[in-house]
Amino acid sequence: MSLLVQKYGGTSVGTVERIEAVAAKVAKFRDQGHDMVVVVSAMSGETNRLIDLAKSIQETPDPRELDVLVSTGEQVTIALLCMALKKRGYDACSYTGSQVRIVTDNSFNKARIQQIDDANIRADLKAGRVVVVAGFQGVDEQGNITTLGRGGSDTTGVALAAALKADECQIYTDVDGVYTTDPRVVPSARRLERITFEEMLEMASLGSKVLQIRSVEFAGKYNVPLRVLHSFQDGPGTLITLDEELNTMEQPIVSGIAFNRDEAKVTLAGVPDLPGVASRILAPVGEANIEVDVIVQNVSSDNTTDLTFTVHKNDMNKARSVLEAVAAEIGAREVKCDDKVAKVSLVGVGMRSHAGVAATMFKALAEDNINIQMITTSEIKISVIIDEKYLELAVRGLHTAFGMDKDPVEQQ
Ligand code: ASP
Ligand code: MG
Repeated sequence: MSLLVQKYGGTSVGTVERIEAVAAKVAKFRDQGHDMVVVVSAMSGETNRLIDLAKSIQETPDPRELDVLVSTGEQVTIALLCMALKKRGYDACSYTGSQVRIVTDNSFNKARIQQIDDANIRADLKAGRVVVVAGFQGVDEQGNITTLGRGGSDTTGVALAAALKADECQIYTDVDGVYTTDPRVVPSARRLERITFEEMLEMASLGSKVLQIRSVEFAGKYNVPLRVLHSFQDGPGTLITLDEELNTMEQPIVSGIAFNRDEAKVTLAGVPDLPGVASRILAPVGEANIEVDVIVQNVSSDNTTDLTFTVHKNDMNKARSVLEAVAAEIGAREVKCDDKVAKVSLVGVGMRSHAGVAATMFKALAEDNINIQMITTSEIKISVIIDEKYLELAVRGLHTAFGMDKDPVEQQ
């Protein structure tokens, strides 16, 4: 007997047939004696449809009213799932976020969960009911409906699992786990048995879309065992856990490769090399609300230096005009921009205890004749900026170089 929190994403409840299939699946777990709390997303496409409706009236929809609107998507699926369970003879009860009392702050559209009142849920579980909760939503102290940001149902699932001290939080989706890298780019990518919270957080921040970033932060903070599984295929999925729970003997050095095509490179060349210039350049960029990622400053030769950094592609032109103003002010030579770049990152807690990961990475890229434009490292990550046209070649080469490819037999 254990308590499971299961979350089903939009594609898993995208049609009435799929909702019936989810009900059948939940019923099976109930038959095995588990206490069940089920969190559901809106039917796939529904949240987008509601946002489009709002935008057809107000270009920038009123934040409070937008949350009243988009929270209805999940209200549909909780009711339908409960009906499907009742039809099968299982007692079930649905709850919106505010009926549970998932209390959040009042930042509409991106609210953070502050507290969960678990009394209703516990009473239902005790009475043998399946509890079905709307993902993605909460209520603030004043009783306003709030939502947790796109993909927020993952966070609802994890937060409920933490509050109820569930044995596992299972995220059911349309992939059968977390992969070493995107299988659409590297067909030999393999499903990971396990990955740590830290690694998953890096993968999610670097562009892997399997889980909402905040849900991974939350799971790590409260040590909620989190498992990603396919909704309608059997299999163990991928377990996300603490570092200590991994067997270090089996620990790979690199667990995954993330990549991102959305970055652009901005260079300010011929900058007088004086104390304070980096801040004089980057402060106005920050004030313009432009997020800066990788930063590199060259060693100066003739008392001038180049400062290069990356921003989101959408922000490149804004960054260019900010820098042109700064260049005139501090006497820099020119501003150069390039949006044909991509970032490739190796992620792995095993890097902490292994030297030479960077050297192996650079050698593999050199063998494919790929020029590295920028490099940045952290304890469990190495990222390089390269020409966008070599992205796929780079990811495939690195996947092989770090021994992550599936065995040929497995590939068939
Ligand atoms: N329905 C919401 C969205 O599409 C929340 C979720 O599915 O996690 O973002
Ligand atoms: Mg999702």
